[in-house]
Amino acid sequence: MKAHYGYEDGSGSYYITVNTEYCATCDGKPCTDACVQGIFAREEDDFDDEIVVVREDARNSLKSICAACKPQIGGSRSLPCEVSCKQGMIAHSW
Ligand code: SF4
Ligand code: SF4
Repeated sequence: MKAHYGYEDGSGSYYITVNTEYCATCDGKPCTDACVQGIFAREEDDFDDEIVVVREDARNSLKSICAACKPQIGGSRSLPCEVSCKQGMIAHSW
């Protein structure tokens, strides 16, 4: 299932999409350690599978939270969170 976390404001739209299709069988869930701001959390879904979500307290400030990564790396494909997910299940909208 694709879950979208984020918001829009006058400067743009800031969403992180997590496709949880492979989370339950993903060893170690590397995205949770890879994010320098620790915004990914483990949660059980309706089928008792452990999936990854964006922490609730981070969802409305993703632009500023992720700013630490974006300018210095340049190009969202190199973001630590996206690189950590070998299945390519994490994506940013900006
Ligand atoms: S690395 Fe990818 S597949 Fe693994 S838990 Fe994170 S989002 Fe899910
Ligand atoms: S861009 Fe950086 S701060 Fe934002 S989710 Fe990815 S690793 Fe975490």
